[in-house]
Amino acid sequence: MEMKKRLEGKVAVVTASTQGIGFAIAERFGLEGASVVVSSRKQKNVDEAVEKLRSKGIEVMGVVCHVSNAQHRKDLVEKTIQRYGHIDIIVSNAAANPSVDNILDMQESVLDKLWEINVKASILLLQAAASHLRNGSSVIIISSITGYQPPASMAMYGVTKTALLGLTKALAAEIGPQTRVNCIAPGFVPTHFADFLTSNEVLRKTLQDQTLLKRLGTTQDMAAAAAFLASDDSSYITGETLVVAGGLPSRL
Ligand code: NAP
Repeated sequence: MEMKKRLEGKVAVVTASTQGIGFAIAERFGLEGASVVVSSRKQKNVDEAVEKLRSKGIEVMGVVCHVSNAQHRKDLVEKTIQRYGHIDIIVSNAAANPSVDNILDMQESVLDKLWEINVKASILLLQAAASHLRNGSSVIIISSITGYQPPASMAMYGVTKTALLGLTKALAAEIGPQTRVNCIAPGFVPTHFADFLTSNEVLRKTLQDQTLLKRLGTTQDMAAAAAFLASDDSSYITGETLVVAGGLPSRL
């Protein structure tokens, strides 16, 4: 299938994009004509992701960025500007899910980590990048279906994802009309991150059966939604969350 080229001339920064959903988003953006900046904590992963994307003819640069490191966030923005001059699209995709503890049993250091990586880092990255966002730019925040109804084993993680739904609305009001801010709430997608759920045959089947489409999501499903929200096809949509979860219950 011939890929649409809706993002020609645009510059996209995607955090946590050397594998999984972030990588698929970077790849899709690149195939739609964007110049993409991929990043994650490990240089080796960044180099490999750059290599893979380049081999598909995508214009790409890689920068190491642990999202909770201020210097890394600064580097990510500055290197993007040095190379491409501006930013049109930012996808805030990094998250941690360090514990299955109940909220009331959770150590303070774990609560801090969840808040820092899943919520605060998105805000701080956008603070660093805001002055470089062009007119017509698009910010996409990756939340989760668990943000609507945090499951017991992922309760506090789910709560941080709920916070992103509010953050999306607040930022859309704050930086519109120049920049649109939207969110994606993925359902369950077999990636390294979700391995503890999807590699268990019984659990995997239960999760599949709970969807109306009777399958787990793919990273490409998420990338297609992100490309829509990044492109002018969604030019009258802001402050919204697109649930991409095969019909799992979210809200009316
Ligand atoms: P994944 O396949 O495990 O990929 C994680 C990526 O993030 C890797 O490239 C990793 O590379 C990077 N990374 C991890 N911690 C980072 C940090 N602190 N700073 C920067 N990069 C970091 O994960 P995924 O499933 O695609 O998850 C991506 C997003 O989707 C997350 O926000 C997650 O909450 C959300 N989500 C996932 C699912 C699902 O079922 N998979 C469902 C709902 C929502 P390095 O190791 O090199 O850092």
